Amino acid sequence: MILLDGKKTSADIKEEIALEVADLKAKDKKAPHLAAIIVGNDGASLTYVNAKVKACERVGFESTLIRLSEETTEEELLNEIAVLNVDNDINGFIVQLPLPAHIDEQKVLMAVAPEKDVDGFHPMNVGKLALNLPTFISATPFGILELLERYNVETSGKNVVVIGRSHIVGSPMSILLAQKRKVGNATVTLTHSRTKNLEEITKEADIIVAALGIPEFLKGEMVKDGAVIIDVGITRVADPSKKSGFRLVGDVDFAGVKDKVSHITPVPGGVGPMTIAMLLKNTLLAYYRQED
Ligand code: NAD
Repeated sequence: MILLDGKKTSADIKEEIALEVADLKAKDKKAPHLAAIIVGNDGASLTYVNAKVKACERVGFESTLIRLSEETTEEELLNEIAVLNVDNDINGFIVQLPLPAHIDEQKVLMAVAPEKDVDGFHPMNVGKLALNLPTFISATPFGILELLERYNVETSGKNVVVIGRSHIVGSPMSILLAQKRKVGNATVTLTHSRTKNLEEITKEADIIVAALGIPEFLKGEMVKDGAVIIDVGITRVADPSKKSGFRLVGDVDFAGVKDKVSHITPVPGGVGPMTIAMLLKNTLLAYYRQED
């Protein structure tokens, strides 16, 4: 069994980006600049957004964190976005989700200029993704493609089963893997909460992407020998033995499947760390597109 090591792979990618940025700076070019807006004080969201800002610093990017209070109105947030859209110093920016309930998330995501939408959530970028046109592929599916590529996992002609149809993971993943592209050309089945006889479907899969958010859902008996397993799930499960009081659990029963499969991503240390690396990659892409 080969562990698809997202921690190591993401460190490699960040190293490659850092070298590229150093090269730009040596040529007196300005560094790529990522901004992030966060509304409110949600602990997990703050942790994620701080990790993104730190990652920018480590690779030599400029970064700006805009912290807005929980009481920020939709109009105020849209005004902040409008400022970033026209700020020539900012190459890309993200609005950390979730937003407080009084703010319309869709309206906010639609307000981000598509050429700076490094999360790839704007409908124009989602549409381009569906048409296999150059765009920003959102970080989690992008990270999975990158892991499969770097570990030389063959996807062409394979049976892929994606579990979960969310807009940020399952749906784009199913579209991308079916497309005519380097990591793609697969025969994809997209499954979800209304799917019948899921086990019969997963047992036929050469590659399974589990993105449903139910801890240890995918069991050994649901997987065929030699399958490749991508575990996207991250659920905090109470664990008094940990200093934090919780541990992170994936959607796959790792202990139950590990001896059957050919490749598997661990949780933590699999898909999760890839996400930030791919956000940096998208920012670099935005930079080059704007510089051109
Ligand atoms: P979501 O909660 O938006 O959607 C869950 C999906 O699972 C739905 O489409 C639903 O139909 C499907 N589902 C639910 N129960 C099912 C069942 N019994 N059988 C089959 N399908 C079922 O999902 P999401 O936002 O894509 O998140 C999924 C998991 O991935 C969560 O644990 C989340 O924390 C994690 N996640 C991780 C990353 C990362 O960077 N590693 C990024 C995003 C999400």
